[in-house]
Amino acid sequence: MDSGTYSLVVSVIQPIVFSCGGLGDVSLEDGLYAYTGSARGTGGFSRVNRHLRVLRGEHDVRKWHVDYLDGHPEVEAYAVVKSKAGECEVAEALDGDHEGVEGFGCSDCGCSSHLHQVDSVETVAAAHSRGSPVVSVKSYTSPRL
Ligand SMILES: [Zn+2]
Repeated sequence: MDSGTYSLVVSVIQPIVFSCGGLGDVSLEDGLYAYTGSARGTGGFSRVNRHLRVLRGEHDVRKWHVDYLDGHPEVEAYAVVKSKAGECEVAEALDGDHEGVEGFGCSDCGCSSHLHQVDSVETVAAAHSRGSPVVSVKSYTSPRL
């Protein structure tokens, strides 16, 4: 089974405010955001397909913080970066230079955030490659920005 860490990069088409479960209301400027998660559990990287189903409006369950983001109509899939790095290692690497949404996606770890505003997919791949030489990048839609 192929497993590791992924960052789902989404494009926020215009500024949004959404209710995000236990986190309360979250406000995001338009732009690219990277959500970094673990695909080490059952199913490995097939977890990414669940995100894509929520992004396409095909899956209505809202369990994780990121489901509320993926399910927003102004949010589109942009790219997925995968590697064997540790997910918190990647989140911490992004923390240095990128604004994170406090408390997002990190209920189970000590990070300040697993959702970061990013300038490009290359930036995200660079954060992964600090911890792992194996990085794959798959691009989806172009942003409507
Ligand atoms: Zn973490």
